[in-house]
Amino acid sequence: MPGCEVLIVGGGPTGLYLGALLARDGVDVAVLERRPEPSTHSRAIGLHPPALEALEELDVREAVLAAGARVHTGQARSRGRLLGSLTFERAWPQNPFVLTLPQQRTEALLEQRLAQLGPGALRRGREVLEVHDAGPGPVRVLVRSTAPPAAPGGAAGGVQTWTARVVVAAGGAHGCTRALTGTAGRVRAYPDTYLMGDFADTSADTGTAAIHLEPEGVVESFPLPGGVRRWVAHTGRAPARPPGRAERPEPERAQRLAELVARRTGAVLDVGSNSMVSAFSVRRRIAGCMVHGRRVVLGDAAHEISPIGGQGMTLGWLDARELAPLLVRELRGGDGRELAGVPELAAFQRRRLGAARRAAWQAGANTRLGRPVPAVVRGARDGLLRAVLATPARHGLAGAFSMRWAGEAGAA
Ligand SMILES: Cc1cc2nc3c(=O)[nH]c(=O)nc-3n(C[C@H](O)[C@H](O)[C@H](O)COP(=O)(O)OP(=O)(O)OC[C@H]3O[C@@H](n4cnc5c(N)ncnc54)[C@H](O)[C@@H]3O)c2cc1C
Repeated sequence: MPGCEVLIVGGGPTGLYLGALLARDGVDVAVLERRPEPSTHSRAIGLHPPALEALEELDVREAVLAAGARVHTGQARSRGRLLGSLTFERAWPQNPFVLTLPQQRTEALLEQRLAQLGPGALRRGREVLEVHDAGPGPVRVLVRSTAPPAAPGGAAGGVQTWTARVVVAAGGAHGCTRALTGTAGRVRAYPDTYLMGDFADTSADTGTAAIHLEPEGVVESFPLPGGVRRWVAHTGRAPARPPGRAERPEPERAQRLAELVARRTGAVLDVGSNSMVSAFSVRRRIAGCMVHGRRVVLGDAAHEISPIGGQGMTLGWLDARELAPLLVRELRGGDGRELAGVPELAAFQRRRLGAARRAAWQAGANTRLGRPVPAVVRGARDGLLRAVLATPARHGLAGAFSMRWAGEAGAA
């Protein structure tokens, strides 16, 4: 029966990051990922300074910096006019930018690091079906193979039982949270839907991100590495596919996104250069509890927030960064007690759920800011933003948008 000290369910950014931290600290860790192959979906692109601090702990920061693009300035625009702009020098003197890198490339760098620190720790093609955490023995985990059969016509889907001293559920928003914890948190679906896509960046300033607050809804654009720019447009209440699905180039949707962008902002996108287009809707769900018995729930599995503002992946890494030393201490302490009764883990849970609620509040505000609003409200909103961006208060706004509250500088 295969076994390990810590079994992590899910090899997304949270699971890979935690796996690498634990492997570095000498823990026998296994990261089970149901996808046989790495994901090709580009969801998260924004790496705020606290994310870079977290990556530094694994010595991955330099590789990520070399691969990414730096956003030094954020602009707010409305009906063709600049309302104002902000920069990040005051909020982050040592790191005055937000980095952008498509999620699959960030995951590839984390996977590489995990392979160096814990060779063989990542097991692809393994789906966790059940977790049994009762009594004083090890936690028992039922795992199904999702890898394609080795030989044509061979059997797939064999089931194995694994054992572990601790199980960490990092299976994301659509993974295994409910089965592992018995509580998923209340889901709040926002009425907002979006189209996002990547196109050749023809803008003059490749270090600037822009938010266009337009009468029909927001359009956002962010520079990406390799001369590409991501465009995100609010599409109202039209049905959208679940996040991350159907990211292959789809000419009709790319054309629709280009038309929305042109109509609202005047920017002309080269539809032929489209390399990804996807629709998504947004939800909020924060679990009531992250620590149960000898199981801990982390990342999107514990807290799903609106991606508008790009904080979700960073939150997952910060969960993992706080959890890793607590787990190492418990494992080395050796009495196998339930984590749920440990005061430091209760404090960890309080801090991390507090951070998730803070991020969710801000993500909700960002989401509401981008909705179509009546002309009279729009005038007041634009006036207020123009005023704030013209005063030193813009530095506070820059700090809030780049998660200063979550980083070492914010905590100091
Ligand atoms: C459109 C969009 C844009 C976003 N932009 C940003 C951004 O700019 N910045 C940012 O910080 N965040 C952003 N996010 C959020 C970010 O993508 C998530 O917060 C992040 O992916 C969460 O990581 P995770 O590892 O917790 O979960 P996931 O990334 O969902 O990974 C979970 C993994 O677990 C695996 N899994 C699930 N169940 C099982 C099981 N039973 N057994 C084995 N494996 C399992 C899945 O296959 C998956 O690989 C965005 C999200 C979306 C949808």
